[in-house]
Amino acid sequence: MLSYRHAFHAGNHADVLKHFVLVQLLEYFNQKDKPYWYIDTHAGAGCYALDEAFARKNAEYEDGVGRLLGRKDVPKELKSYLKLVRDLNSAGKLRLYPGSPCCAAPLLREEDRMRLFELHPADNKLLQKTFETAGSKVMVLQQDGFTGINAFLPPPPRRALVLMDPPYEVKTDYRTVVSSLKECLRRFPTGTYAVWYPKLHSMESRELPEKLKRLPITSWLHVSLDVRSPSSDGYGMHGSGLFIINPPWTLNEILKKTLPYLVTVLGLDTGASYTLESEIP
Ligand code: SAM
Repeated sequence: MLSYRHAFHAGNHADVLKHFVLVQLLEYFNQKDKPYWYIDTHAGAGCYALDEAFARKNAEYEDGVGRLLGRKDVPKELKSYLKLVRDLNSAGKLRLYPGSPCCAAPLLREEDRMRLFELHPADNKLLQKTFETAGSKVMVLQQDGFTGINAFLPPPPRRALVLMDPPYEVKTDYRTVVSSLKECLRRFPTGTYAVWYPKLHSMESRELPEKLKRLPITSWLHVSLDVRSPSSDGYGMHGSGLFIINPPWTLNEILKKTLPYLVTVLGLDTGASYTLESEIP
């Protein structure tokens, strides 16, 4: 089923958390003078026009990145992420929002490589167009990212950051994330894997972090940001989370400093909160 279009949600609170953490991970990778691959198993369209019908429908970015851009009290840890957004919007007005591939692209260095999976024909076409002049540095594939990734593991430089960000429109995505990661870890146990998930009322969503902790891993970090209390009718997303396997040892401190700020700025009611837990030997 391919009814999900990320354009409806571009720049919302979940994108803020995901893309802020993604930038932190890439900046950490860049500290070492050794190439790496960035693999995005569910890449989306690449970049989103916030003034087009999809994004305008619910204007989710207004309560997401829109709340952060004008502020003067932003913690320094959030600045590189916000700079990426500002750099896309040189005219000052927020018109474009960078999806994960467009957050990553400006941070990758000459020797680094990007491999992007996107199954939706329309979003894949947009993604191809965005990277049409990037040459062999970027490869855009219209394949199932859950299995397609296997062909790239282990990557030639033996360093990689994987973002696994499925739509979870079908409940099987929760199971497939776990089985796909099992195979990824078998092929490449030392990679860094960031898995995004929505916080919903459903059992599948609530159980996912515990299932991920039971993978054959020794080092992980789990962060989640709720922007409101779960709704009484059980519908809708009240927050989101990221589970990171083999995270940088510095990430926990960075998130400790930043998440309270995000709760204050993005919170919609008294249920706004965050969780942060990790096991990093
Ligand atoms: N990672 C993007 C970002 O942060 O900007 C957003 C991705 S969106 C949450 C999920 C995307 O996965 C959708 O564009 C959808 O079309 C695509 N998709 C769904 N199933 C897929 C699959 N099995 N393999 C690759 N892409 C898939």
